[in-house]
Amino acid sequence: MYEVMARRYRPAHFDDVVGQEHIAATLKNAIARDRVAHAYIFTGGHGCGKTTMARILARALVCKNGPTPDPCGVCPICVDVAAGRDADVLEIDGASNNGIEQIRLLREQAAYVPTRARCKIYIIDEVHMLSDGAFNALLKTLEEPPGHVKFILATTDPHKVPDTILSRCQRFDFRLVPQARLAAFFRSLAVREEAAISDDALEAVAAFAGGSVRDGLVLLDQLLSFAAGEVTREDVESVRGVASTENVAGIFTRIARGDARGALAIVDEVASRGTNVGDFLDQLIAFGRDLMLLAAGGKEEGVAAYGPARAELFELAKTTDLESALLYLDALAAARTRVRSRALTNPLVALEMAVARLAGLGGVTPVSRILERLGQLPAASVPAPPPVPAPVPAPARAEPDRAPVPRQPAPDSVPEPEPAPAPAPPPVQEHPPAQHQQPPAPPAQPLTKDAAIDLWSKLLDMAAERHPADLRLMLRIAVDDVSGDEIILTGSPTRIEPWNDALRLKRLTDMAAETLGRPVRFSFRERAAQRRSSARAADDAQAEFNLARHPMVDTVRSLFDGVIVACEAAERAEPEPDSVEEDGEAR
Ligand SMILES: [Zn+2]
Repeated sequence: MYEVMARRYRPAHFDDVVGQEHIAATLKNAIARDRVAHAYIFTGGHGCGKTTMARILARALVCKNGPTPDPCGVCPICVDVAAGRDADVLEIDGASNNGIEQIRLLREQAAYVPTRARCKIYIIDEVHMLSDGAFNALLKTLEEPPGHVKFILATTDPHKVPDTILSRCQRFDFRLVPQARLAAFFRSLAVREEAAISDDALEAVAAFAGGSVRDGLVLLDQLLSFAAGEVTREDVESVRGVASTENVAGIFTRIARGDARGALAIVDEVASRGTNVGDFLDQLIAFGRDLMLLAAGGKEEGVAAYGPARAELFELAKTTDLESALLYLDALAAARTRVRSRALTNPLVALEMAVARLAGLGGVTPVSRILERLGQLPAASVPAPPPVPAPVPAPARAEPDRAPVPRQPAPDSVPEPEPAPAPAPPPVQEHPPAQHQQPPAPPAQPLTKDAAIDLWSKLLDMAAERHPADLRLMLRIAVDDVSGDEIILTGSPTRIEPWNDALRLKRLTDMAAETLGRPVRFSFRERAAQRRSSARAADDAQAEFNLARHPMVDTVRSLFDGVIVACEAAERAEPEPDSVEEDGEAR
């Protein structure tokens, strides 16, 4: 019968327990100097060696050649203890034997002398699960233990163990095993197993183990029985059913670029493979944490290994400031909470919302820099409030339960009951560049979509100063695509309709020509009414991005130290062509 690795490689000696050398050394010392306490409590996360250490300690004390720091492992007592059938070493699972009766029974048995060993040892696992009555009964024994009895308690939750118990035990805190240490340990096992597994895959196993030797061994076992050739990182990711690190890094890169559509496409792709949304979020959070650590000036060694995506992480860290990294983590953690609380029927929406929102904020200047800039501005130049819907400024997590599907404001103005079909042909603009002090025009190269999006946000800034009425209409459309020198804008028919006004369009093309230093044309593309959710989220994120770039919003955000948590318009039915001023109502 196949014996799992966790059992096959269970350490028999103190020095073999991975990552708990500090505890092993202390216990060995205590045995060598005959200073063994009558009660110990081992605390720490699951799978990091508490029970294993307890068994080794028990053997060290009862071994025929003992007490010895190095139990022989071959005498009848050692063999029986290892097999769990020694009459003097009793393992009790506190979770299933948590009643007062069991502990009373234990006390009665403890009174008898050991059958053949020199002492009786009780190992109580998960001791925090004992009932209050059971703890009281145990306390009596701990207070006046028979000389031949030792207790080793183990728990993952020491704070659930009464102080009266804790204070009578010598306590050892087991550490989560560092990832590099786990990887090295697994590598040594792979060599012993003559298993073909790449270093990259071993690092991934160590990462997923989360500090637990046992969890890592279970995963490793699974991989070695599953893979035909050499086990790769992709195998690890597919056995765990998680996103690849490339995808995780790719999402962050696109968020940083403000590319909501691209980021959501990756989310879609990963989700379509059946990846658990919660696990996916955990991966994003882990990556975001490393990004934050690097942004805060942390050392490279402190960062998890990400295989081929590691370079991308460091690249991102160069351009990500601490504030943005914290913003990412905040939004992802909020989404994680939503997923856990089942606030949404489809948990994927929570993830999509977070990603779309962050991508929308991707190009936003950090508040610290805005404050700096505001400090340099003459007071008058802070723009007057334009009638745009203001975001909720402050507490970022004030209303986590609200589903803030970002929506653009309802159409306003210019009554024209039927939606106008095609936009007017855009007038060609040959305005000479730069009456205003604009930055030097870039050499004429074909316009990219990124450049167009960048241009659009500059135009929003200009419109805020010069044509506030146009700004409202501009905030409701978004850059869709670029074709040569033509920027294609998109919006619903009612939002496009106002741009049939030739004068209004001319103001826009004038501003664009002035900014770029050469003429550009704008055309319009109607957005289909029904779209796939992620595409719509991308558009909404773009609208939110536009809004976030608005100087007034920046001012509000910096004044209140706020984060945009939602972007909502007073909602109206889409084709309603009226409702003039008051849809910029702040909530
Ligand atoms: Zn022995």
